[in-house]
Amino acid sequence: MQIEHVRNGFASIPSARKDKRDYEKTLERRKKYRDQQAERLKDEFGLDKIREDSIRRLEAITRQNGQCLYCGRTITLSTCEMDHIVPRKGVGSTNTRDNFAAVCKLCNQMKSNTPFAAWARTDSAKQRGVSLSDAISRVRMFNIDSGEMNGREARNFEQGVIRRLSQTEWDEPIDNRSIESVAWMADELHRRIDWYYNSSRYEGHGTESTEGSTKVRVYQGSLTSEARKASGIDGQIHFAGASYKTRLDRRHHAIDAAVIAMMTQGAAQTLQIRRNLRASQNAVGYIEPDEIAWRDYPAEHNAGYAAYAKWLDSMYKLLDLLNDALDNDRIPVIHAQRYSLGNSIAHDATIRPLDRVLLGSAISVETINKASTPALYCALTRLPDYSAADGLPASENREISVNGIRYSAHDNITFFSGSSAQIAVQNGSADIGSAIHHARIYKCYKENKKGIRTYFYGMIRVFQADLLRAAHDDLFTCQLPVQSVSMRYADKKVVDAILSGRAEYRGYLVVGDEIEVEFNDQGNNAIASFKNFFEHELSVSPDVVNKWVVAGLMEPTKIRLRPSILSQEGMDRIKEAHPVDASILHDVESIFDKGWRMAVGTASKYKMRVVRRNVFGEKRYTSKNICLFAGASTRRSMTCKALGELLTAHKCMADCGTFAGACLSALIMRNPRKSH
Ligand SMILES: [Zn+2]
Ligand SMILES: [Zn+2]
Repeated sequence: MQIEHVRNGFASIPSARKDKRDYEKTLERRKKYRDQQAERLKDEFGLDKIREDSIRRLEAITRQNGQCLYCGRTITLSTCEMDHIVPRKGVGSTNTRDNFAAVCKLCNQMKSNTPFAAWARTDSAKQRGVSLSDAISRVRMFNIDSGEMNGREARNFEQGVIRRLSQTEWDEPIDNRSIESVAWMADELHRRIDWYYNSSRYEGHGTESTEGSTKVRVYQGSLTSEARKASGIDGQIHFAGASYKTRLDRRHHAIDAAVIAMMTQGAAQTLQIRRNLRASQNAVGYIEPDEIAWRDYPAEHNAGYAAYAKWLDSMYKLLDLLNDALDNDRIPVIHAQRYSLGNSIAHDATIRPLDRVLLGSAISVETINKASTPALYCALTRLPDYSAADGLPASENREISVNGIRYSAHDNITFFSGSSAQIAVQNGSADIGSAIHHARIYKCYKENKKGIRTYFYGMIRVFQADLLRAAHDDLFTCQLPVQSVSMRYADKKVVDAILSGRAEYRGYLVVGDEIEVEFNDQGNNAIASFKNFFEHELSVSPDVVNKWVVAGLMEPTKIRLRPSILSQEGMDRIKEAHPVDASILHDVESIFDKGWRMAVGTASKYKMRVVRRNVFGEKRYTSKNICLFAGASTRRSMTCKALGELLTAHKCMADCGTFAGACLSALIMRNPRKSH
């Protein structure tokens, strides 16, 4: 069992975003500082080719006030060398910033491959005037530019350098422990999964080497990209925009998963050493006499060479398998969906006051529609002087009863303010726009005087709040009374059609539903630009460009789609590397930013098909392309194992959990006669 642990793997989306922003801010500050150093190298030192190690040396010299950290003698850019304060046993070194010092050439030679503190105790070091306490006091005098590190970072850094200077032992060689992620969450995950497979070990019987036991390994996320690069499969994978090395194609997650699955402990160790050598050689600017160039590692005489070669071979085979799967559209991208009612937040956090209106005053249809409770709506619309066209006239004698409380003409009754769908809560109302469970798609018609029908599609968005009382029914087919918020805040045309029997329920949509689109329109709009840009300019397969996902149901008449496989993450690199016409770019980015908003009625123009998949990503349902969403409502519950029991039990007795109730209606809809 192989697990990749990434730093923010289990963080919430907002906190991961914040981390990312902080990280980017730090990165930007560092870059600015480094650019300044690069300028200095050009202007003051006349270098024309700026290398990583030159910048590092200049930073260190500035920070160390132009002194060798070990002996205190004056050093300059051309006379100093970078040294690992504590070297490691075996190949590769610790390349954290606090393990590097700018030192004079003689100190570097004399110290050689010894930890500083061990060397400082020798006679030759003492004769040179080297001591641990002097070196530490030089650290305390560090001159750290605020562009390089902020105050807290600088203090931590100084502490780190002092710790390295004081260490008398070599760092341990790179081994299995150093390649496994030690983050708390990684550790916990490891423990739980290991327990699942190997519980006997924890219960005191059985041993580490129990035959046939499952080995659970957690690897650091950074190892995955190292593996892709080292094996050379990067750039050869057939996904969208592969030549730009972007994250444009969401299927790169699947590639990474496959790469992790192929990892072996031996390969991981070799990759880690290779990465260490690279970091070290880039930082100090030369290859130590006892080292080999990182690109050539591992050579045949190095330990682990055979295991590494075997791993490389398996990676080439993996590449073929992955490309075959990508070329044949066998790596689906699945988006999170919610079918159950759930106990998630039912409304937004902001509470706004309700509008108060005297019951006896004239009240418009629009206002009545915003009645703060379904019961109030019913009471008002059932008054004898109510008309659907004009609402209620003023009346001094008006009286209603709502949930057992009587109101007369001089009492206030309450309405939602604003135009968004809301729910009454204590002391006011709250928006429920984000608490939409699903949208129901209807095929409706209008009939003219000659009896000729014109058909149109429309939708009703079903708010969670309206489903609470239907929690034990099929949420997708339960009746929505006219006083429900879902009906009151829906497209009037569709509501009228439903109430007068001119609408047929064709299926439902939830956020996360996959939609396959057939573009037949070469028009001059943003979506056409989007398609042409990816298919023609970047040669992305239509299989990729045609896949969309329902991203939002925030408008009463429109659904919002966004690309299912293509991700905006990849656009920056493409913009850098590929000349893009400004207006096309604007169109493409607007589709990524705002999504593709379209009226349900126009969806048929693109022959949209809803695709639903099982947990393995296999298609379990595809709607017919001719009738938009046709059939979507009737074939939802193919997972149920015991449909037969449902008719008597009225509840799903099988293990399908969230589909309870849906099973029953599915059975009825598939066998309408029998169930009658
Ligand atoms: Zn020195
Ligand atoms: Zn069931």
